[in-house]
Amino acid sequence: MSTLFITAPAGLQHLTPPGHPERVDRLKALDRVFEQEKFSTLLRENAPRGEREDIIRVHPADFVDAMEEASPTEGLVRIDSDTVMSPGSWEAVLRAVGGACYAVDEVVARKVDNAFVCTRPPGHHCETRRPMGFCLLNQVAIAARHAQKVHGLDRVAIVDFDVHHGNGSQEIFWADDSVLYASTHEMPLYPGTGAVTETGAVGTIVNAPLRSGDDGEKFREAMESRILPRLETFAPELILISAGFDAHKNDPLASLRLVDTDFGWITKRLMEIADKKSGGRVVSVLEGGYDLEGLATSAAAHVTALMRG
Ligand code: ZN
Repeated sequence: MSTLFITAPAGLQHLTPPGHPERVDRLKALDRVFEQEKFSTLLRENAPRGEREDIIRVHPADFVDAMEEASPTEGLVRIDSDTVMSPGSWEAVLRAVGGACYAVDEVVARKVDNAFVCTRPPGHHCETRRPMGFCLLNQVAIAARHAQKVHGLDRVAIVDFDVHHGNGSQEIFWADDSVLYASTHEMPLYPGTGAVTETGAVGTIVNAPLRSGDDGEKFREAMESRILPRLETFAPELILISAGFDAHKNDPLASLRLVDTDFGWITKRLMEIADKKSGGRVVSVLEGGYDLEGLATSAAAHVTALMRG
């Protein structure tokens, strides 16, 4: 059993203003926790740079060019009210994209059992041509298309347990019957999408909103009743996880009350379905998580489960 662990030092060069929750310290906290002895068997690799041809399957070329051009040579530029770019941001997001696609390559080729892509910025809020919510490109969506176009997979699922709804992933795959997008998230909360009634043009969007204060029990119930049965029926050839850890009880951006074991639980459940339906293929991509301690311990529980620990 082997788990690939992809990092990108370039993520440390994506700078945000003082006080911004999506900050360099997130990666440093994760680096520290994964130095523990129990993670010594992870296969560690640096993310390659993402390929333009992979990116433009999701984001139009003119948008990609505009994003690259928006990248400043010094200081910070504001892309929207809470999304910024620094001189290192473009390289960071290219590595996040490249890491996700490379993880798919390795998992589909069965060189590893599964993978965790530990990069920033996150991606699930970025729509086809609209960066927002700390996200510059949508790497999990790009990885899904990469799996389909490069490796010939027909059906791919994205399960998103970040506390925020992945409006970008939903928008990108709204009318696509080959990609199941399923999300638990707190509602009402940023970005405002993700109602149960949003099911996509062809019924492949599954939203299971939770309420402020909901705990792991409610989270597990939503997963077991709404998302996991749909995932199993869909029988994807690959399960991608938008792994945000901001549903943790100590996260400052939201008010669900998940604990580390809830993240371990959902990881194991997704792996069980992957074992049954997807040849065990799971690629998890880091999204949010803004309480440094909660982020580190819940990501550790997630990766421990991936390692079948
Ligand atoms: Zn989030």
